[in-house]
Amino acid sequence: MSNFKLGLEFAQQQDQNDELKSFRTQFHMPKDNDGNELIYMTGNSLGLQPKITKDYINQELEDWANLGVEGHTEGKNPWLHYHEFLTETMAEIVGAKPLEVVVMNSLTANLHFMMVSFYKPTSKRYKILIEADAFPSDKYAVESQLRHHGYDDKDGLILWKAREGEELTNYEDLEHILKEQGDEIALIMIGGVNYYTGQFFDLKRIADLGHSHGCIVGFDCAHGAGNVKLNLHDSGADFAVWCSYKYLNSGPGSLSGAFVHERHAHNKDLNRFTGWWSHNKQTRFRMRDEFDQLPGAEGWQLSNPPILSMAAIRASLDVFKTAEFDRLCKKSKHLTGYFEFLLNELNNDDIKIITPSNPNERGCQLSIQVKNADKTLHNKLTEAGIITDWREPDVIRCAPVPLYNSYMDVYKFVERLKTILN
Ligand SMILES: *Cc1c(COP(=O)(O)O)cnc(C)c1O
Repeated sequence: MSNFKLGLEFAQQQDQNDELKSFRTQFHMPKDNDGNELIYMTGNSLGLQPKITKDYINQELEDWANLGVEGHTEGKNPWLHYHEFLTETMAEIVGAKPLEVVVMNSLTANLHFMMVSFYKPTSKRYKILIEADAFPSDKYAVESQLRHHGYDDKDGLILWKAREGEELTNYEDLEHILKEQGDEIALIMIGGVNYYTGQFFDLKRIADLGHSHGCIVGFDCAHGAGNVKLNLHDSGADFAVWCSYKYLNSGPGSLSGAFVHERHAHNKDLNRFTGWWSHNKQTRFRMRDEFDQLPGAEGWQLSNPPILSMAAIRASLDVFKTAEFDRLCKKSKHLTGYFEFLLNELNNDDIKIITPSNPNERGCQLSIQVKNADKTLHNKLTEAGIITDWREPDVIRCAPVPLYNSYMDVYKFVERLKTILN
């Protein structure tokens, strides 16, 4: 990674040599009021729109217009089984078997549905462990699960905290917590890539550790899906959830993915909330049958799915398929390494990257901590045509996304940042 160079020419060269450069033109790039393209570095929050998305959605609108209810079976892409069009590519992206993956509901809802099945507190073992700076929705969700089961959420929640003066959590501390309190912990629920620091956790290590203490282990991979190789199956995690509107470019509030490990696929004793879409597909429309559980992750579905959102996911997954996730991950490491190099070369004490410097412990997001929590820096970046996001208390999150960000984006970002800092 040390072959990075300063200067405009290097960035231009890298873009020229980029085998994925054509993908940028397949996305709508937001513009300022004068029609200039903005530098969009916030695909970690809302991914950009692929140009083909409109066609995919229009196809379904047309079938609805022309066929009405018959679109369920007679449409070009019959709605009845529409979610199945997504399964294979989605499974590939998160490193799972098709049986283990389903797209349904939205993210926090799925987290709750997973906890219905996998958070099974007893009087001795009822606590939930999360990382201290977990995404707020996840924290609220686990706290409410504790209360739902009659436990006090202060007593029942164990936080994996970074050490005093440090930003990143430490595995030794996790091991220590488990050694001390492992037999009281029912569930470990960690954000696979931390939304704030960008730290990509070793999912297998956490799952193995949790399992060795008898805990169930689940991950929220909202910041990981489409960003890093999650290898969910091999991690051994019991369950995982993620959204499709961040790195997966499927549009605001779009549907979520859920993973249930194969070893639970045929366990009909797992408690869960069910609906007609969790029922055997062959007999679903006889309507009067005794409930017959679908195997695998599909068995957690409740409702017939929203086709328009799924069409957007399908469009995005088709872009991923052509780009190839391996190639994206390779470019991601290089592009983010370049970004880190340029930021470090600024040598400015007002900013500090808190994301791990090891490329295997992060995705494309770098979190820049701003001295004295000076939010005006973020405002000035916005005025300079750069879209990033500010996260309280003191971080600017920036993600050069390999599908649509270029080396020139990164170069211009750091040049403008330099002007602002000086
Ligand atoms: C983005 C994100 C959410 C958002 O949840 P929604 O239910 O989609 O609103 C929740 N948790 C994590 C970790 C996230 O990154």
